[in-house]
Amino acid sequence: MSEKKKKIHLDFNTEWEYAPAPESADHVQLKKQYELFINGKWVKPSSGKYFDTINPATEEKLASIAEANEKDVDLAVKAARNAYDKYWSKMSGAERGKYIFRIARMLQEKAREFAVIESMDGGKPIRESRDIDIPLAASHFFYYAGWADKLEYAFPNRNPGPLGVAGQITPWNFPLLMVAWKLAPALATGNTVVLKPAETTSLTALKLAELIQEADLPPGVVNVVTGYGATGAAIVNHPDVDKIAFTGSTAVGKIIQRAIAGTHKKVTLELGGKAANIIFEDAPLDQAVEGIINGIFFNQGHVCCAGSRLFVQEGVYDTVLRKLKDRMETLIVGDPLDKNTDVGAINSQDQLRTIQEYLKIGQKEGAEMYQSSCPVPKKGFWCRPTLFLHASQSHRIVQEEIFGPVLAVQTFRTVAEVIEKANNTPYGLSAGVWTDKGSKIFNMTTQMRAGVVWANTYNKFDPTSPFGGYKESGFGREGGLHGLQPYLKM
Ligand code: NAP
Ligand code: MG
Repeated sequence: MSEKKKKIHLDFNTEWEYAPAPESADHVQLKKQYELFINGKWVKPSSGKYFDTINPATEEKLASIAEANEKDVDLAVKAARNAYDKYWSKMSGAERGKYIFRIARMLQEKAREFAVIESMDGGKPIRESRDIDIPLAASHFFYYAGWADKLEYAFPNRNPGPLGVAGQITPWNFPLLMVAWKLAPALATGNTVVLKPAETTSLTALKLAELIQEADLPPGVVNVVTGYGATGAAIVNHPDVDKIAFTGSTAVGKIIQRAIAGTHKKVTLELGGKAANIIFEDAPLDQAVEGIINGIFFNQGHVCCAGSRLFVQEGVYDTVLRKLKDRMETLIVGDPLDKNTDVGAINSQDQLRTIQEYLKIGQKEGAEMYQSSCPVPKKGFWCRPTLFLHASQSHRIVQEEIFGPVLAVQTFRTVAEVIEKANNTPYGLSAGVWTDKGSKIFNMTTQMRAGVVWANTYNKFDPTSPFGGYKESGFGREGGLHGLQPYLKM
């Protein structure tokens, strides 16, 4: 058997082999060096500094990225203010909508290139970037383009108007999708934008800036300033920014909230999560197992709403665990560009270290670690799908966000018990419930402190549906009609 072929062992001794099915990267156009996108032009960073973005699956450098400092951020904010005053806030909603529709269509046309770059830069399987990230990003632009000329109908008798300049800061787990979640409603409502993508995954935001240039948006309506945390902080602290939209960790969310306290700035924070995925005895177990796998292992667990705490009702615990372990054995970890791959590369060496630290912590705390036996490539950053059995509420692996393919498993007997356990966390972003009974679903959804509760499914998104958290998972909603509100004064 060729070394490259992947072997799958099932517990009934069947063996499947998959020949590699790599997505070609030949069509991808990447520059060696990316500048800052300010006022419709590519400009060099005033510090002259650049940093590398690498492919986490190969550790190879993909491009140099400009590092923006306060001076560059100031230029970007000035460009955005100018574009706001001169063009964007004056334009009719219908005209703005045309530009946003154009972005959506162009993104669809270039979907394959964007998907491949997303997988190369961030490590996520091509199946995810091709079928989820990029199509959903395009549909957010389509959806909000449709609202641009209907804001008076969305908020009748309230005379909705834009806020001004929006500073938007995004994380590395859904690089383009998080940009789309923020950009589309901001533009539809007549705001201009200064955007900072995460340092490890700037490429698709920069490709989007190229596309925006091609779409001929007025200069300064969208500005992209790449860099590290300090670049984000410079946006947050700039006095002429009217609104901050942030998706990222709870720790940085708290810094931002402190920084803008007492200013006129509005803010939405989409932060971390530690979602409970709850399996009742009457659940369709095979589907539930797929939901568990989808909830935590796909996308390497780099999902804010990942179902990272599993609660299984005692009567079906043995069955669910057996099925789950069998299914985990079939997961292929490896080349993100291979269409067979289920679990791609961990986004960065830093993130891998964090995950490995939690694997040690979990074992020290006394939980039993179980990992699938799949081979992992030698180069790059990888983590096998991992379970922690016999975890308990006080364990750090149960309380803290790991942001990797690591699932803490607990059992429960009654509905009251599982609701108490599920809500016993500082977070409240999402949850999953698996049961045959509609009444049980409604009972659970009303009592769970989570922004989204999926029933008999997991990790499903749609631009029409609002998303956001409770407690330390942040506040404000993105998506749907609700997603327009944080960008409007009324
Ligand atoms: P992060 O470290 O908080 O970074 C998020 C963004 O903020 C990055 O662009 C980062 O730049 C920037 N940043 C860092 N320090 C900053 C500061 N002091 N002021 C302003 N900006 C700053 O989070 P991450 O590690 O990229 O992303 C993972 C986290 O995001 C997880 O906690 C996850 O749960 C959360 N997340 C939440 C949602 C949601 O919708 N609720 C969605 C996705 C992810 P650098 O990249 O240079 O550090
Ligand atoms: Mg990268």
